[in-house]
Amino acid sequence: MGIVTDKLPGALEKVPGGNVLVTRFDEIINWARANSLWPLTFGTSCCAIEMLMATGGPRHDMARFGAEVARPSPRQADLLILAGTIVKRMAPRLRTLYEQMAEPRYVIATGACTISGGPFIYHSYTTVRGADEIIPVDVYVPGCPPRPEQLFHGLLTLQKMIKEGETIREPGVRRKPVISALPEGVTLEDIQGEMKELLVKENVVDVHQAVDKLKWPSGTNDGS
Ligand code: SF4
Repeated sequence: MGIVTDKLPGALEKVPGGNVLVTRFDEIINWARANSLWPLTFGTSCCAIEMLMATGGPRHDMARFGAEVARPSPRQADLLILAGTIVKRMAPRLRTLYEQMAEPRYVIATGACTISGGPFIYHSYTTVRGADEIIPVDVYVPGCPPRPEQLFHGLLTLQKMIKEGETIREPGVRRKPVISALPEGVTLEDIQGEMKELLVKENVVDVHQAVDKLKWPSGTNDGS
């Protein structure tokens, strides 16, 4: 499980000898699901390099969102991350992969090609014009390619949807898909600053202190 970005749903009541959490069972399940997603990656072209390889690396550190354990098997995954062009010959395989995933299952579509066919939307006899022609999509992350931070934004959006949405009484009930575009005017520095604050707030690591302590061997890239 990654950084828990909200409180445990429910109320803590003090009793002699400790505390008791009073909550609803489906809220706990949705909270746990949202914070421990198991992704299956479906990277087919340039977006996959930015979205999946860079995002999974230590610089961006997807682990803090509890979704770093990418599965090579759909049977062990509940989040399908699509990145890249989907050609028509691939479409039946993609549908099969989706149907083999554990339920409840979620889909994030990243990049213009995955969302709409991108530059291949016109006059292409090979390319699917959007993943939602094949499978239902929960969150769209636009861009060409989107940055890793944008995928995180999409992941946090999906987590919010899961916490608010599906219940054990009504499995399969979904809200409408959303577009997880970063607000206009937000810079990369803003996003990185916000993430640092989140890490500090959760007492996972004191980022400023950790950076001060870093000693880079002379003559090497200082990572800036
Ligand atoms: S959206 Fe852009 S970066 Fe992503 S697969 Fe299409 S052309 Fe490549």
